[in-house]
Amino acid sequence: MSLIFGLFLFLATIAVMEGFAYVMHRWVMHGRIGWLLHESHHRERLGRFELNDLYGVIFAVPSIVLLYGGLQAGWGEWATWVGAGIAAYGAIYFGFHDVIVHRRVEHRIVPRSPYFKRIVQAHRLHHAVESREGTVSFGFIYAPPVERLKAELGSSDGARIRRPRPSSLAKIAD
Ligand SMILES: [Zn+2]
Ligand SMILES: [Zn+2]
Repeated sequence: MSLIFGLFLFLATIAVMEGFAYVMHRWVMHGRIGWLLHESHHRERLGRFELNDLYGVIFAVPSIVLLYGGLQAGWGEWATWVGAGIAAYGAIYFGFHDVIVHRRVEHRIVPRSPYFKRIVQAHRLHHAVESREGTVSFGFIYAPPVERLKAELGSSDGARIRRPRPSSLAKIAD
């Protein structure tokens, strides 16, 4: 397999993972069963971890299996590239979601570029709702325009809107 094709597979995997994360977040995590774990992420976190962190552990499994298959078990290079793509998505997700937005690690990063501001504000709007239903913006590296999300949030039924917790959310330069 050529290096170019491998890199293509790697980047395509990251894109597919964003779609997969959107579907999982919207219909599984905010579904009846998935909410059992995800609800912890829509409340104030008391300790260092929350039940929702188990999703990260679950989603790491296919990446570990594919990397093992590709590097050790002779499945072919495709498995290594796809496994690495899933791991890279996990790293991007953790950096954006847990570090930048939710500040689980101290930092001084202030989103300034229009793209960066948009994805951070979109995820803040996702957290404007504590209930399982009625929230907006389920993706992480892509988000629709913030104005559209605000309009959608205002018109949704079943949303228990609350004021965002400033302490847990990233500051945004206006
Ligand atoms: Zn959510
Ligand atoms: Zn979040």
